[in-house]
Amino acid sequence: MKVTRIAYSKNLNVGKCQQLEEQARRLGRVRSQVWRDHGSLAGVGVTDRQIRDQWMRNGTADTFGVLANAWKETVRDAVGDIKASREAAKVRVRKAIWRHTSDKTERKRLCAALKRDQWSEDPYLARLMRQHWQRGRNHVVNQIVVRSDDYRTFTLGEGGDVWLTIPSLLRRRVITVPLNTTIAPAGTLRLILRDGQVEVHFAIDDSTLKSSRRPCGPSKVGVDKGYTEVLVDSDANRHGRELGDLLRSESDFLKIKNARRAKIRGIVEKAREKGDHAKADRITANNLGTLKRNRRRNVFKARVRSVTFTAVHAVVDNAKHIVAEDLTRHFTSRRKLGKNTNRRLAAWTKGVTAEALNSVSERRGSALTLVNAAYTSQVAPCCRALGTRKGDRLHCTRCGAVWQADHAGAINVLERYGDPDITLFTSYKRVKQIIQERADRRRTRLPVQDSSHRCGERTIRSEQQCSRNRKQ
Ligand SMILES: [Zn+2]
Repeated sequence: MKVTRIAYSKNLNVGKCQQLEEQARRLGRVRSQVWRDHGSLAGVGVTDRQIRDQWMRNGTADTFGVLANAWKETVRDAVGDIKASREAAKVRVRKAIWRHTSDKTERKRLCAALKRDQWSEDPYLARLMRQHWQRGRNHVVNQIVVRSDDYRTFTLGEGGDVWLTIPSLLRRRVITVPLNTTIAPAGTLRLILRDGQVEVHFAIDDSTLKSSRRPCGPSKVGVDKGYTEVLVDSDANRHGRELGDLLRSESDFLKIKNARRAKIRGIVEKAREKGDHAKADRITANNLGTLKRNRRRNVFKARVRSVTFTAVHAVVDNAKHIVAEDLTRHFTSRRKLGKNTNRRLAAWTKGVTAEALNSVSERRGSALTLVNAAYTSQVAPCCRALGTRKGDRLHCTRCGAVWQADHAGAINVLERYGDPDITLFTSYKRVKQIIQERADRRRTRLPVQDSSHRCGERTIRSEQQCSRNRKQ
């Protein structure tokens, strides 16, 4: 498996930076044109080579004002992006097929046609694809993709930092970029220009990483996204507890900062209304800049990522099989989250956790199974009946046991693995039905003492957990 590494430019001078920005801007036009011409139905089955040949024949290629290799690589990259957006839509379409088609052979036929990109001939599939694959647009104007044989790296002296030589807009004229690393990037490079700095993204094979050789533990655990931590596992261990404080302090900071910026923006608008454009421009340039804001945001994101990855590594340290809910499935829309910064940040960290679970378990060779998450945080594991949730506590309505909600969630997630009735695609309504049916069956079948004994045993454990939590 490949993992992405990023090297940063060090003390890049302004002239070089401007040249690179201009090149990226022109390549942004190439990207936009690919999206415009081939971003929808017209692009299905068209390869980047065909686009290249067509553009060289009809003279489009000469209008970009960049070297041939640069725009050709950009076309390849953009075609890849379009394909990724199409494949993402197919996941949603497949879900819709499962929802609406009960006939097995018909379902199979539809999924096969979807996979082979033959959906445009089938009216039903074409309609679903139109619905779920919204037309995309290119917004990327700050990237340059450099092919592996198009750049050179060198160091000044033994063990020094690496320098990178990349093509400019002119033939046989190169731009030399000093990097902040002693390890030379390899393979295809993606240069991203941000805040006057060049980020060099490149893929390396993960077998060279130290963490790949770290063995995973012996057990099988379920994990649940925690309330104030990255993950809680089914053995009640909480991983990445710094996350809660990190999110809270950042959202408090942003709340104040954004309110102040809004106030200043109000003054700018008032000045514009009065026709005092000089004042408005002055305030926009000096008081509403994004440089420091973006820098802070990047630092914050990097810290959250590092906490998350450390937490997932800790889970893998004692598990060779992780069962988790599919965190990417239940994204609340941005509109629904509204202005609540804390919730918006929490939604974003969900994606990071999903990524970390995927990449760490793949790298270290542990298995990851995703299961249906419906009602996992509401079922009390002692009686397997729906409990009542109060804050981060879950009360069992049958026996009165108190659970830490995320711990209960992790146990339920683990039990979902291998559940014969609840698959990843079972609707949440059906899941609720199944849970209630099972709970009723348990109650009528089990003798009273037995169930209270079971619950009692678990209650002690969860009570111990509670007192331990309180101490922390
Ligand atoms: Zn109970």
